[in-house]
Amino acid sequence: MTVRTRFAPSPTGFLHIGGARTALFNYLFARRHGGKYLLRIEDTDRARSTPEAVRQILDSLEWLGLSPDEPPVFQSAREARHAEVAHQLLAAGRAYLAFETPEELQAMRERAIAEGRPPRYDGAWRDRDPSEAPPGRKPAIRLKAPREGETAVEDLVQGEVRVANAELDDMIILRSDGTPTYLHAVVVDDHDMGITHVIRGDDHLTNTFRQCQIYDAMGWTRPRFAHIPLIHGADGAKLSKRHGAVSVLEFREQGYLPEAVFNYLLRLGWGHGDEEVISRERAIALFDLDGVGRAPSRMDYAKLTHLNGVWLRRAEDARLVHEVLERLARRGVLFGPAGAERVRLLMPELKERARTLEELAGSAAFAVLDGPPPMEAKAAALLTPEAKARLRDLAQFLSDAPWERADLEAWLRDYAEVKGLKLGTIAQPLRAALTGSTTSPPIDAVLFALGRTEAMDRILAAVEGG
Ligand code: GLU
Repeated sequence: MTVRTRFAPSPTGFLHIGGARTALFNYLFARRHGGKYLLRIEDTDRARSTPEAVRQILDSLEWLGLSPDEPPVFQSAREARHAEVAHQLLAAGRAYLAFETPEELQAMRERAIAEGRPPRYDGAWRDRDPSEAPPGRKPAIRLKAPREGETAVEDLVQGEVRVANAELDDMIILRSDGTPTYLHAVVVDDHDMGITHVIRGDDHLTNTFRQCQIYDAMGWTRPRFAHIPLIHGADGAKLSKRHGAVSVLEFREQGYLPEAVFNYLLRLGWGHGDEEVISRERAIALFDLDGVGRAPSRMDYAKLTHLNGVWLRRAEDARLVHEVLERLARRGVLFGPAGAERVRLLMPELKERARTLEELAGSAAFAVLDGPPPMEAKAAALLTPEAKARLRDLAQFLSDAPWERADLEAWLRDYAEVKGLKLGTIAQPLRAALTGSTTSPPIDAVLFALGRTEAMDRILAAVEGG
């Protein structure tokens, strides 16, 4: 059997981080078993589905490296097939026509509630002949569900789950207007797409029993099911906007790397010992549903940010330079090729200190500019008259230095020694002058990356500035 999984989002909004994790588990399970991972856009709710949401979902999946192996299936395009299967069930006597009006159904529900019974359909048309129907009434098709016994599912995460059939009523599979119900459409699509494993959020667990009844009625082999726990916030409530970012694209904007989000989502609800940093290749080699826990996972933003720092340090410098320049340009920072080159030279140092691309861009801003950087108050405070005098002297001294990083370091040390000063006493005002800040990569790296002319200009501007 070739494993085939699917991710089946409803395009009614952005891709939530929980949905992304469901996609990830489907992707990994398929990859691990040499199978295929598919995407189905569940857009039958026409009023709530938008093309913009579809585009966002596809973008988010692509960014995470979770694009499907085959073109996406759009559920709305398959309505004729959903209806066809409903009619097959009808012809086989596994479904029947039900002629109640919405008002009659409402009254039935109210009666049940008033009498303290669950509001289930009473099966009134199960054994009635359609010829008894009031003229002109359009019927719905209902599944003739088993009334005795149980429906049991061996869930790959939840273990065995079962429900007494007496608790499930005869559900509508095709409405009187000819449109399929959601539960029915999912079964027909999963069957036709050859899905072998349905991995989804455990909020769908109760749907599974009804879906199994449709499989059984059609004589189709059921797929295996795996219902994964939802993601909660730190307070234990279902993760929502008030906890922080929840959409995949928001994380991208905030400067998270896709491999870090991938890694974090993997670890959220799945574990392999205490291994924290896991690459895509390793995840594919290790992933299995046995490692998925049953308890809800808690989103930990600090952990994600930490992991992002780890992946940032592993990322290629050229890629980070590209990302940083793009972010700076978006902030409206103007720079030329010389500025870009400085960021390139400093990247090995800058990336050691940042946890997100936004932080990285912030820390690179001083380097792309031509001319003196904006001065933070803490940095300005270091530029005392005494420090300025020393900077002037230092500039003079450095004007003959060979402009290589190792040489610059040696020259600074020599200078401090000759003057009987600690290196920090010299480096801090120099850093303020060159970067406008009190924190930066090592000062020799900064001097080198700025180049002699730019460095001298900045020192002199600081010395002369108010
Ligand atoms: N469309 C459903 C959702 O977005 C998923 C259904 C399924 O995976 O079976 O929650």
